Formats: sequence, C-alpha cells, structure tokens
Amino acid sequence: MLKASKYRIYPTAKQRQHLAQSFGCCRFAWNLALNLTNETYKATGFGLNRFAIQKEIAKLKKEYEWMKEPYSQCLQVVALNLSRAFINFFEGRAAYPQFKSKHRKQSISYPQNVSIVENGMKFPKMGIVYAKLHRPIEGKIKTVTVSMNAKGQYFASVLVDDGKDTPEQSTEGKAIGIDLGLTHFAITSDGSKFDNPRWLRKHERNLKNKQKRLSRRQKGSNNRNKTRKQVAGVHNKISRCREDFHHKLSRRIVNENQVICVEDLAVKNMVKNHCLAKAISQVGWGQFCTMLKYKAEWEGKVYLEVNRFFPSSKTCNVCLNQVKSLPLDVRFWRCKKCQTNHDRDLNAAKNIRDEGLRILSPRTREIAYRPGVSRDSRGRKKSTISHSAG
Ligand SMILES: [Zn+2]
Repeated sequence: MLKASKYRIYPTAKQRQHLAQSFGCCRFAWNLALNLTNETYKATGFGLNRFAIQKEIAKLKKEYEWMKEPYSQCLQVVALNLSRAFINFFEGRAAYPQFKSKHRKQSISYPQNVSIVENGMKFPKMGIVYAKLHRPIEGKIKTVTVSMNAKGQYFASVLVDDGKDTPEQSTEGKAIGIDLGLTHFAITSDGSKFDNPRWLRKHERNLKNKQKRLSRRQKGSNNRNKTRKQVAGVHNKISRCREDFHHKLSRRIVNENQVICVEDLAVKNMVKNHCLAKAISQVGWGQFCTMLKYKAEWEGKVYLEVNRFFPSSKTCNVCLNQVKSLPLDVRFWRCKKCQTNHDRDLNAAKNIRDEGLRILSPRTREIAYRPGVSRDSRGRKKSTISHSAG
C-alpha cells in the first residue's frame, strides 16, 4: 500500500540556492513543454506523449548550460507529471494543465535515490538536509517531493510502499450518508451535525489588515516583501487549521462506519457560481472527501460518491415522493404525501446513504427504483467504488 507523509525540512543557504535553481529549471521545462503540447494539439488535434516530452526536455539540456544544475531525474519527472496531467484532463478527473508561476508554491520530485539518515534526508546533488522526522518512515521510498510555500518554508512529501496489500473491501457493517453544506459543514444520516469551524472569521480580520498594509507598500521594497510573507503566513495558518479539522472529522467518521456515502458535488462547477464561490472554496469539501476516501481504503472500508444529479434534497426519505422545487433557504419541509416533517439536510443525508446502499447491492444495481429519476451513463460510471490506493 502506498502512503505519503509530509516532513518539514531545513535546507542550508547553499542547499536553498540549489533548490531555487532546480525549481526554476523544472518550471521552465514544464511551461515550455506545456506550450509545445498546446501548439501541437492546435495543429494536429493530438497532444504529445510522455516520451516526446522527455525528448524535448533532453534537448533543453543541450541548449542551456544552467539546465544541468538540477538532478536529471527531477526533469524526467516533469515529463511524467505533464503527460499524467493531460491524461487526467482527458479522462475528466482534472482541469486543463496550467502554466507554473514563480510566485506560487514551488516543487520538484525525486523519483529515486533519496535516503533517510539520522536527523535528515540525503538527496542527490544536495547531500544531507536536516529534517524533522516526526513520524518513522517504514517501507520502501518511492518518490520524494520537495516543496516551498509562499512563506519560504520547505517540506518533503515522502511516498512509501509499505509492502502490504490493500485490505479487501467489505460492506458488512454500519453505513452512513453525509450531506455537505454551508450552514453546517457536514450532516450525517444518523443525525449528527458538524458545524463549520469559525476560525476563518477570526483570522479574516487579521488577513484584511495585513492585505491593506501590503497594498500600501512600495513595489519592490524590502518592507513589501516582509508584509507579503506575513500575508502568506495568515493564509498558511488558515489552511493548516482547516486541514486539522478535516483530518479529525474524517478519522472519526471512518472509525465509526463501514460504508461511507457522499454526494458527488462536482465542486468545481459550484465554484463558478460566484455568490457561493468564496464560501465553498473556503470550506474545502474536496480535501475532506479525499481524506475520507483514503482513510476508508486503508482499512478495507467503502467510500462511495453518489451521483449529484440524484435529487437528494427533494425526495422524501420515507415515501420517496419528490417535490418539484425546494429553494435553498427552506430548511424544513413537510411531505404532502406521507405528512413527515423533514429537516432538509438530514433528509438529504439519509437519501444519500440509501442511494449508496442501492448502488452497492448487486441485485438492484441497474434499476432506478425512484420514479422520475433519470440516470445518465456518466452518472452511473461515476458512482462506482474506486479501488485505487492513495
Ligand atoms: Zn413522504
């Protein structure tokens, strides 16, 4: 099974310089290869495959002396990552690959030859970098990705194969449906409501003040640079708090349940609605669902995404009667057919659970028993259990 852990590393000034150059070279190679792929695609209707990209990157090394600075394998990974990014795009899992910017998070990957030593990690061309190994690394190291955030902190994400097989999935046990929302972060079919943490509001004023200060600083000045790092620090704090909240809640849900059903939100599409965009991207449902997925898979539990076109809010969980419209601000409603009073989100969570169980039960797999629910082929494909490890 593959598992990844992230460690903080502390490169020396010389190592930082080497990393800066390597980040730059890999970014240059990525942007150039992406541009070339775009042009080729426009001209022929086909992109470039991994080997064609690799060839182009090899050419760059002959052309520019400074492209010899990074570890050669790091440049090879760029070709692999770019071709994978295109495959993910064409198979509908990811957005179109983007050009990399000097001003965002920087990273490079070492596909081999990194080893763990006492108090550090040994990298090719860079030697030993001091690392805080807060958790033992057990198993064979596959890839190590070194990154630097906007605050100038360095991290190494270590992907390890522990040699064990992924446990077989079983659906025997408690099933839960989760409705993700904005008023509450998550509502489960067993009636728990988890509030959206309020830390953001607390940090928001701080962020606003610092951003205001940043806008007043003169471009290119030392003070501006200092304030920029402070702003990055607040963003950093917010994302770490959010990650911590997601880790704790997903751990709890996976511990207590065997089958976990979540609505496939296609968050990206919802973010395009600019009224909700800020709130949605701040709560981070995507990260939360990813954690639920891998934590469930590690333990042989089932994580399932239910087609988002399935009307989970508008269907009565008791009699399956479907109401025509249910505006977003209606939190409670009464089913006209069976007279049940519903909490909007709790009803949705129960429907998500039942729909998940229906998909899992082999006898009814192909039958949509809810009247008036049409299922397109895309939806059905998306609702299958994913077996990939990660
Ligand atoms: Zn009803």
